[in-house]
Amino acid sequence: MNIHQNVSLADKNTLRLDARAEWYCEAFTVEALLEAAEFALNRKLKVISLGEGSNIVLAGNLAGLVIKNRIPGVNRDAEVVHVAGGENWHSLVRSTVSSGLFGLENLALIPGTVGAAPVQNIGAYGVELGDTLLSLKAIHLPTLEQKTFSKAECELAYRDSLFKRNDEWLITHVSLALSKVSECVTTYPGIVSYLKEHRLGISGESIAKAVTHIRAGKLPDPLRIPNVGSFFKNPVLETERAEALAKVFPDLVQHEATGGKKLSAAWLIDQMGLKGFRVGQFVVSNQHALVIINEGGGTQGELFELVGVVKQKVKYTFGIDLEIEPRIYPDGF
Ligand SMILES: Cc1cc2nc3c(=O)[nH]c(=O)nc-3n(C[C@H](O)[C@H](O)[C@H](O)COP(=O)(O)OP(=O)(O)OC[C@H]3O[C@@H](n4cnc5c(N)ncnc54)[C@H](O)[C@@H]3O)c2cc1C
Repeated sequence: MNIHQNVSLADKNTLRLDARAEWYCEAFTVEALLEAAEFALNRKLKVISLGEGSNIVLAGNLAGLVIKNRIPGVNRDAEVVHVAGGENWHSLVRSTVSSGLFGLENLALIPGTVGAAPVQNIGAYGVELGDTLLSLKAIHLPTLEQKTFSKAECELAYRDSLFKRNDEWLITHVSLALSKVSECVTTYPGIVSYLKEHRLGISGESIAKAVTHIRAGKLPDPLRIPNVGSFFKNPVLETERAEALAKVFPDLVQHEATGGKKLSAAWLIDQMGLKGFRVGQFVVSNQHALVIINEGGGTQGELFELVGVVKQKVKYTFGIDLEIEPRIYPDGF
């Protein structure tokens, strides 16, 4: 196991922020992961788990050991797939859809690894990872204990889980219960119109195709235009508060959600006229108000100044505190 010192993470996060890891390694097996975790334990180093870096903001250099999970492998047992954490999420969606298994089609084109998918219970177009998650395996970094978590133990919620709040666990494998029977979710109007327009019936393949098409038109490709997808969570307000706000702003975009009404953060930001707003090299995307893009060489200072303006304007007009969706490192920044 090669563990390197003072490694640049600039090409290991999709926002392309320049920061360095004190120690860095890539683990291709569980044994290598355990070895790396033990290395950190012996030196009392904090461990940070890394996937493809599509949901992190590097606010500065990272003390400790960054372990990038590269463990490969997909095994199928009837309608259950067991997937190693280093696999690419979209490749998994493509392979399950093409082998006639339903359940992941609405989650096509979400960047990142399978191991990171439970961390914020990835979701899109009416479906969340939690809809198919059966269990997962993880290593407890401070003790090297290996544990299987049932879905209930993962404490999944909207863009949240036990693992987003407690980074002592590194997810090595995920098991998903898929189905050979079509239970497709087509509630999102864009999917329906795509299927109609292209004269496609409802199938896993056609829905994945529709979702891929819609996403590619709405979200900048992080491989070409550095970004982390949605920068803010959609705020959930108590129904009474949301209704009061809707009286002042009749066009307010809101949907039923657990705990009240979920508002569209993109709508709130758009109303502030912030699309295209720039600080240095960071810009609120003109394509999607929830996405912040780095036009090249943007600094942490510029990013956080821009984020501050967005949050302040939304708070002043709507009284809502926007919450940042990606994890910010180092902790406590
Ligand atoms: C263009 C774009 C669109 C996106 N669209 C969506 C969307 O529709 N829905 C959605 O939910 N998300 C979306 N995201 C966010 C992102 O794709 C997901 O959160 C994804 O799961 C992150 O995977 P990753 O491997 O890049 O994780 P990373 O960014 O590397 O890590 C994210 C967090 O997970 C932790 N982590 C990573 N791997 C592990 C592991 N094996 N065990 C424990 N913790 C781990 C990290 O420590 C970090 O806290 C989007 C991002 C982009 C750039």
